[in-house]
Amino acid sequence: MIGNVVVLLGAPGAGKGTQAQILSERLGLAHVATGDLFRAAVRDGTPLGLTAKGYMDRGELVPDSVTIDMLFERLARPDAAKGILLDGFPRNTAQAEVLDKALAERGGKVDVAPYIEVPEADLVARLGGRWICRAQGHPYHEQTKKPLVPGVCDVDGSELYQRTDDQPATVQARLRQQLGALDQVVGHYRGHEVLATVDGSQPIDRVTDGLLAAIAAATGRQG
Ligand code: ADP
Ligand code: AMP
Repeated sequence: MIGNVVVLLGAPGAGKGTQAQILSERLGLAHVATGDLFRAAVRDGTPLGLTAKGYMDRGELVPDSVTIDMLFERLARPDAAKGILLDGFPRNTAQAEVLDKALAERGGKVDVAPYIEVPEADLVARLGGRWICRAQGHPYHEQTKKPLVPGVCDVDGSELYQRTDDQPATVQARLRQQLGALDQVVGHYRGHEVLATVDGSQPIDRVTDGLLAAIAAATGRQG
């Protein structure tokens, strides 16, 4: 039997990683972020990382076959049995359909797909000011979420850095290439009646409250 499956949706910069780290801890779900898995592969110089890097640098999606294999390898790890919080997957309808099928084969389903909705104009400022930590990808922002000590992660003490794909030209490319596919994924989950839209322009803790309420209504899990 498979545990709860929560799919966190949102444009690049909407706050998925920020919220996923809070929610996974509070709800006891495994946080699975395909972007983090790709960045780890790039950092380690694995064949997967070498394949992914070019797409990531151009702001494009990595091909589905590569992404899906990587995801299912991660989901086979024991901690996924307690339930999963997906962050950054699915990114298009084909990925959403593969996920539905794989879950159905294991007697599971996507329980809820909370959509963190943020106006496009705000995404550019969020991505441009983002710093993340080397050790675990904890996100900060130079205006809205400063670390206690400049350049150092509050949680694990590792160094903060700016992602190369958060440079202005790549940000524009990512939004141009990825927002259309996000709309389709949102439509997919709306059609399955599991979509729950949360206003992502609120402060971080208010967004968390909205997400916890949506997840509790669908799964009974309380944060
Ligand atoms: P995503 O994982 O969806 O790409 P992140 O969680 O990395 O997005 O957030 C993008 C940036 O916006 C980060 O710098 C983060 O600190 C900041 N951020 C996240 N949520 C909020 C919020 N509710 N209000 C203001 N800034 C936020
Ligand atoms: P993220 O950290 O979610 O912003 O992802 C960073 C980059 O990794 C994206 O711009 C894509 O190039 C790639 N990526 C992450 N998740 C996926 C996915 N589900 N499908 C394809 N590419 C992905």
